[in-house]
This record gives sequence, structure tokens and C-alpha cells, in this order.
Amino acid sequence: KAKDLGRSTFHFFDPVLGSAAQKSIVIESQLREAIKHKQFELHFQPQIDLASKTIFGFEALVRWNKPEEGQIPPNVFIPIAEQSGLIVEIGEWVLDEACRFISRINRKFDSQYMIAVNLSARQFKDSNITHAIKKAMVNARIKPECLDIEVTETMLMGNIEEAIAHMQDIKALGVQLSIDDFGTGYSSLSYLKRFPVNTLKVDRAFVKDIPHDTDDMAISAAIIAMAHKLKMHVIAEGVETQEQVDFLRDNHCEIGQGYLFSRPLAEKELISFIENYKI
Ligand code: C2E
Ligand code: MG
Ligand code: MG
Ligand code: MG
Repeated sequence: KAKDLGRSTFHFFDPVLGSAAQKSIVIESQLREAIKHKQFELHFQPQIDLASKTIFGFEALVRWNKPEEGQIPPNVFIPIAEQSGLIVEIGEWVLDEACRFISRINRKFDSQYMIAVNLSARQFKDSNITHAIKKAMVNARIKPECLDIEVTETMLMGNIEEAIAHMQDIKALGVQLSIDDFGTGYSSLSYLKRFPVNTLKVDRAFVKDIPHDTDDMAISAAIIAMAHKLKMHVIAEGVETQEQVDFLRDNHCEIGQGYLFSRPLAEKELISFIENYKI
């Protein structure tokens, strides 16, 4: 115990750690400004039906256009927004914008594309989340069936019963539910069958070395087969080559998402992507 105390005292005065903490306080106040001054922007990455080659939908991915510094990726600011609780407000903005986007797109193209939205752990646990999702759908006048809510395995661990109850509340809105980054978290397979999810998203980690890494191919194929046995669909993330598409399609993976098809695009670019898309 004394040793632990000594260590934490040492860390408290650690200049490196101190500056990291200071840095995140600075970013936190900049994030407040960013919310106020509308510095966030959504990009959208197409998801392609691998059998028909048609566009299935899009994943909304947030960017922060920080004055003087340019675009900050979500992996940098989401964790800080999460710690400070600002993610709830940012997340509501994302939900709202994503629903309005898909409403515009589906009207413009007379289509029924899906929009996938990432939730953070804090948002998922927030008791207002179902209200926020519903509000976003009502404001944008979209059908719940075209909204796909992505959660990660790690968010579902801890209190399993509570997580299942939260998922059921969200599902009751009529939306789809997906597990993102599947295979990289710490969820136990014994819980998977109890999760009311429609889709597993196979993490890029298992896709990127297909067809060179036979272990990754075995894992991807096993995840796809398991998902289907559990009556779930599969989206493969990070698809970059035609060989990967061939492998995934041969293994009956329904949807692919990745740079091979398109990087995440701003709305204007996305509209030309759809207009120029050829099967
Ligand atoms: P994610 O939800 O797993 O999103 C996929 C990430 O992989 C995106 O990074 C996307 O640009 C990238 N990606 C897609 N295809 C490829 C590919 O073929 N190759 C490679 N190398 N990368 C690919 P991005 O946009 O930087 O987002 C990173 C993560 O940040 C997301 O991972 C998600 O966890 C989080 N995130 C993004 N937007 C939001 C948001 O609105 N709310 C929350 N809570 N988290 C978000
Ligand atoms: Mg995602
Ligand atoms: Mg993912
Ligand atoms: Mg990922």
C-alpha cells in the first residue's frame, strides 16, 4: 500500500503526465468552443452489398475542423470528449445531423439507404439515449429501419444485464443495432446470443491481411459463420482489395466497407459518388 501511495505521489508530480493532463484540459475547453462554433463535420463512408454490388448505406464519422490546426481525427478527441462528458452533446449533434443527412439523400435518390451512427460508452449508458435517438429520427422524419446504431463489445461488458436492457430499449425504437470492431474487445461469446443485435462488424484487424494471413482468414470466416448461425448479418470493415472482397463474398459476408469502395466523404463528394456509382 505504501508502495502504491509512493508511486501515485511520484506520478502526481511527473512532469510528463502533468503535461498530458494539462493538454487534455486545454482540448476540453477547445471542445466546448467547438460545440459553440459548430466546428464539427460529418463524413460518410459507403457500405456496399457484396452480392449485388449495390450501395447498402453509409457510416457517419465525425471530424473536428479545428481553426489553425486543420482536421482532427475522432480517435484523438472522442476519448477526451468522453472523459469530460462533452460526448453526450457532441453525440446528440452527430445523431441529429446523420438522420437529417440520410433523409436528404433518400429523398434525393428515392432510395432506402441505411445510416450507421457510432455511440460512445458514455452515451450508451446515458438514460436519455433512447430519447435522443427518437428525437433525431422525428426531427429528420426518417423511418427507424434506416438507422443503425453501432456499439462496441467493450461497452457491453461490466454489467451485462444492464447492457442488455439498454440494448433492448434502443431496439424497441425499431432501429438496427450493430456491434462494431467485433473480435477486438473483451466480450464473451456466451453473451453474444443474448445481445439483441442485427449485425456484427468484423474489425479491420482481421480483414487487412487477407489473403496472406491464413489465421486471419480462418478468424474472419468463423466470425461470419457464427454470426449467420445467430441470425445476424456481417459487415466487414477496412476492405481495401478485390481479393478481400472475393474472400468475404465466398464466405457469404453481406456487406463490405473500406477504401476499396471509398474513403469517408463529405456530403457533396458523397452525392457525386452515388451519382457516378456503377455496379
Ligand atoms: P469505426 O467506427 O470502427 O470506423 C471505421 C474507421 O476506419 C474510420 O476511421 C474509417 O475512416 C476507417 N476506415 C474505413 N475504411 C478503411 C480502410 O479501408 N482502411 C483503413 N486503414 N481505415 C479505414 P475514423 O473516421 O478515423 O474513425 C475512427 C473511430 O472513431 C471510429 O471507428 C469510431 O470508433 C470513432 N468515431 C467516429 N465517429 C464517431 C462518432 O460520431 N461518435 C463516436 N462515439 N465515435 C466516433
Ligand atoms: Mg463504427
Ligand atoms: Mg469499426
Ligand atoms: Mg475500427
